Amino acid sequence: MDEIEKRLNREAASTKRVEAERERLIAEGSYPEKFSFPIAMQFELTTRCNLRCKHCYNRSGENQAPDAMTPEAWIAFTKKLVAKGGLLEVTISGGEPLLLGDKLFEIMDVLHDDGTVFNLVSNGWLFNQKILDRLKKYRFYWIQISLDSSSSERHDEFRGVKGSWTRAANAAYRIALAGIPLRIATTITPRELEHLEEIIQTAINLGASYLVIGEVMPSGRAFDNKEIFLSREQLNRFYSTTDELIKRYKDKLSILVSSSPRTQLNYFSSEKLDGAVVRPNGDVRLDCTCPFVIGNVLRDDVEDIWAKYSDCWQNPLVKKFIESCDPISGKNSFTENYNGQDIYL
Ligand code: SF4
Repeated sequence: MDEIEKRLNREAASTKRVEAERERLIAEGSYPEKFSFPIAMQFELTTRCNLRCKHCYNRSGENQAPDAMTPEAWIAFTKKLVAKGGLLEVTISGGEPLLLGDKLFEIMDVLHDDGTVFNLVSNGWLFNQKILDRLKKYRFYWIQISLDSSSSERHDEFRGVKGSWTRAANAAYRIALAGIPLRIATTITPRELEHLEEIIQTAINLGASYLVIGEVMPSGRAFDNKEIFLSREQLNRFYSTTDELIKRYKDKLSILVSSSPRTQLNYFSSEKLDGAVVRPNGDVRLDCTCPFVIGNVLRDDVEDIWAKYSDCWQNPLVKKFIESCDPISGKNSFTENYNGQDIYL
């Protein structure tokens, strides 16, 4: 059995444990079978981005129509959510969310005043002390800065803009210094395999609390850059090396290796708690990597969308999609046939 198979077995066993625990709690009446309202959501605030990363799963920054979810529409949507009970956790991403300027804080304020805890995903380019001072008032599980290499040249080449490594590293350092939990996210491509330990050391030096490390998600612009995917042999090497490094650095940094897309989708389909993404056009997608749209917040009530969210995992098309996800690479003939188009349920 190779490292990939061992890992998939571990992931499958862990998903089964979650399912069994959920069923036990439902049976004893202490856990609902269905949630009528989301607990957590991800908001992709904009398609705009100041970088051009080779792996961008939603092709941010390409010639796209203006966002139907204007800042005013996001504020109206968040107010509606709060009026109906609010969300415990919101992950803010994009595109690059800091491109919204002051409007970002207006959107966050609506949720913050209701008690929401945030995660914020950024490429770090626009961070400065003034922005950090404004962010300090919010509750964060983490702020994530993407850093794909310990080398500025390799990172900048991958992210498409010179100077992006320096900006990201500066942002990361300031975030950690401000006492906000810093999460560094690293996408591993074949040429970074030899540099895993250097990435870990960089994350430690920047003051990170977590390092999330994983292979390229097979979606969006990654399909145009096939050289960035790991081969099976490289993925085996990645897993065995990270297992060893996790043990070696366990006292200094929490290192999380991303699960395979199929495992993640199986987990979402069994928990039905979160995972839904509100996109810049208002569509609600099941997950970043899962192209099914179950409604649009500009048109539909959140309760109606959420009723669909619980049930849609049983939809034969969705089941077929998850089953056809290559458990190793996540590559999916199903998605490629749809040429990256969303599928409306
Ligand atoms: S991956 Fe992130 S930083 Fe890169 S282009 Fe996409 S949204 Fe922008």
